[in-house]
Amino acid sequence: MAVRKIRELGDEILRKQCKEVPKMTLRTKMLIGDMLDTMYDAMGVGLAASQVGILKRIVTIDVGDGPIVLINPEVIETSGEQTGEEGCLSVPGKAGVVTRPSYAKVRALNENMEEIEVEGEGLLARALLHEIDHLDGKVYVDLVEGGLHDVKKEGEE
Ligand code: ZN
Repeated sequence: MAVRKIRELGDEILRKQCKEVPKMTLRTKMLIGDMLDTMYDAMGVGLAASQVGILKRIVTIDVGDGPIVLINPEVIETSGEQTGEEGCLSVPGKAGVVTRPSYAKVRALNENMEEIEVEGEGLLARALLHEIDHLDGKVYVDLVEGGLHDVKKEGEE
């Protein structure tokens, strides 16, 4: 497996619609492995395939409870509201305040192309909605209230 280059805001691929994954292939399995490696290497909580330049409906998420792989995910339920800081590996060094539902339920396929449902509150709900937005060419900066601000990197005071 390998760490892939993360596309940054301004790269037009981030604004494109990703395509459904019809079946699991060796190439797609390798992509998923690389996405997990890339996400962990960048210390992110989520990554969409378009962020590594591949227009497939695949996201990886880990908010600290282990990896979640979602293929062709669909948001089937949301409720509540949360307002908080959000960042994106494609917008390095920046964060902004975004209001999103505080609960989300998603239907998707797992790596074995079996149907699964994932529900989350708080950070997991935020990550699910943020990553699924990427698959439709949406980036969180469009939702930010009050503009982006700089975040300090680890080790910088
Ligand atoms: Zn993102």
